[in-house]
Amino acid sequence: MSKDKYNLKKDVSVHWFRHGLRLYDNPALLAALENCEQFYAIFIFDGEVAGTKTAAYPRMSFLIECLHDLNKQLKEKGGQLYVFRGDPVETFTNLFKEWGVTKLTFEVDPEPIWYERDNKVKALCEKKNVKWEEYHGHTLWNPNEVIENNGGSPPLTFKLFTQTSELVGLPPRPRAYPDFSKVKMDVSNNDNNRFFIPTCEDLGVFPETEHQKNPLNHYIGGEVRGRKLLETRMKVESVAYESGYCMPNQYKPDLLGPPLSLSPHLRFGSISVREFYWRLRDTYTEMYPDKDIPVSLTAMLIWREYFYTMSVNNIKFNQMADNPVCLNIKWYKNQEQLEKWTNGQTGFPWIDACMNQLRTEGWVHHVGRHMVACFLTRGDLWISWEDGLKVFDKYLIDADWSVCAGNWMWVSSSAFEKMLQCPKCFSPGMYGRRMDPTGEYIRRYVPELGKMSLNYIFEPWKAPQEVQEKAGCVIGKDYPPPMVNHREASQRNQKLMEEAKNLLMNKKNSHCCPSDEKEVRDFVWLPDHTPAGSVCSGDTLCGGIESL
Ligand code: FAD
Ligand code: MG
Repeated sequence: MSKDKYNLKKDVSVHWFRHGLRLYDNPALLAALENCEQFYAIFIFDGEVAGTKTAAYPRMSFLIECLHDLNKQLKEKGGQLYVFRGDPVETFTNLFKEWGVTKLTFEVDPEPIWYERDNKVKALCEKKNVKWEEYHGHTLWNPNEVIENNGGSPPLTFKLFTQTSELVGLPPRPRAYPDFSKVKMDVSNNDNNRFFIPTCEDLGVFPETEHQKNPLNHYIGGEVRGRKLLETRMKVESVAYESGYCMPNQYKPDLLGPPLSLSPHLRFGSISVREFYWRLRDTYTEMYPDKDIPVSLTAMLIWREYFYTMSVNNIKFNQMADNPVCLNIKWYKNQEQLEKWTNGQTGFPWIDACMNQLRTEGWVHHVGRHMVACFLTRGDLWISWEDGLKVFDKYLIDADWSVCAGNWMWVSSSAFEKMLQCPKCFSPGMYGRRMDPTGEYIRRYVPELGKMSLNYIFEPWKAPQEVQEKAGCVIGKDYPPPMVNHREASQRNQKLMEEAKNLLMNKKNSHCCPSDEKEVRDFVWLPDHTPAGSVCSGDTLCGGIESL
């Protein structure tokens, strides 16, 4: 009798997907299925969700692919993904009534830009007597728990962050696949296909070029594809461990190979960060049961965590003004130069190749991101990182509100005061040569230079006229001359950075900063892991400022 009575009280649950677009290791989804009679999975396009406000075609199509993947997986279980367009509060007001909802679950969206939306929905739930439950799943730890363990403020250095997170303990292991067998998922009144998944075009986002529609290096969204990529990735990691190193993507940057990075999937949550973290650790332990796990094994995931934690209570994290962790540097405003940088028209082939790849594929390797960000800001153009951030935020598939801003502040020396002591910048010619020794990357993404000889491909303006003509690429006609004199610009900026340092370092402020020289090198992903010492190994790439 009491059991029947209990059964009568089973919930009509809705799981609201925003990020976390996966079934596996999804604590909020599991909570929705507990003591549940009828289950619905929904997604709401409200003009902002999952970064859709700023997304160009590559990111938007990745998201749409994630939704199709969820829908397909849910259909195999007898349900579907219900997709809505409109304001979440209005949508829920209608749904609570139409479906008789008693419980709503969702994954915590830890970036502060989402709090207002979620608070409104929580308030509606309270008013309508609907239980709501939220769970962490997008980050390894609950960022606020890390902050509590650091005495109430975010740990300002990466080293301190690592120590504090150790106090919190290892992140939870992934949770099981959901079991839908005990819930009803019958499809509600679906007249006129009213829950259809829109296309990018339906949402007003169109490809800017043919290449954007058919990119060479294609990241495809969705949990099923993400899991395949994870398996491929784990094989690459195992080979690296066997050969005595870790973080293969960083250690041996491959700019030309097929997609290997999980960052688009981690960004949308089509792969769980906790699963990736534990797979890395477990694979290592299986291979070397008696060895301690090297910190660098999962360091890149900890950087992600660090930026999330830094920004969790700082809604100004993506801007310079009123952002307590960001130094106010007097950057130039120069729309014309910004456009040249954005459109891959700087005249520096390696920069242009990276920017062309960014716009067409939504992806650039970390070393390329570092180079173009340095060039735009403290290196050559002295343009604000906020302008660069907007371009990245539009095109990158993995553009995270927190991670992207954190990296831009880092690279531009805006938030990490010790970097101000290293005001040198990368040389686009030398850095390019180091990362793309055969010039193939430039040939692929700056086809105008396809026939330029390796001797000149990094600095084609230095090629004699007959070489330019033979290569079918005359500088000033087929490809632009360098937009700045790198030597002069970088020397001027070095002085400006010294001045900024002298002015700002006297003030007492609480910026996040690198703990030591090694951290600077690790962050930059310099491929040669030269032993830590007083000289930054980046000097060979930035100190050697070539003459123009
Ligand atoms: P994987 O090794 O497969 O994934 C590792 C994960 O570690 C990444 O998904 C990312 O979440 C994290 N990670 C790696 N490096 C960093 C880092 N420096 N900071 C924080 N997290 C890191 N990464 C993003 O995910 N989103 C962004 O918006 C973003 N913007 C960037 C902007 C600039 C200017 C720079 C220099 C870097 C940016 N990065 C960003 C960090 C980094 O370039 C990418 O995460 C990286 O290229 C992913 O490739 P991967 O092969 O390491 O991915
Ligand atoms: Mg990596």
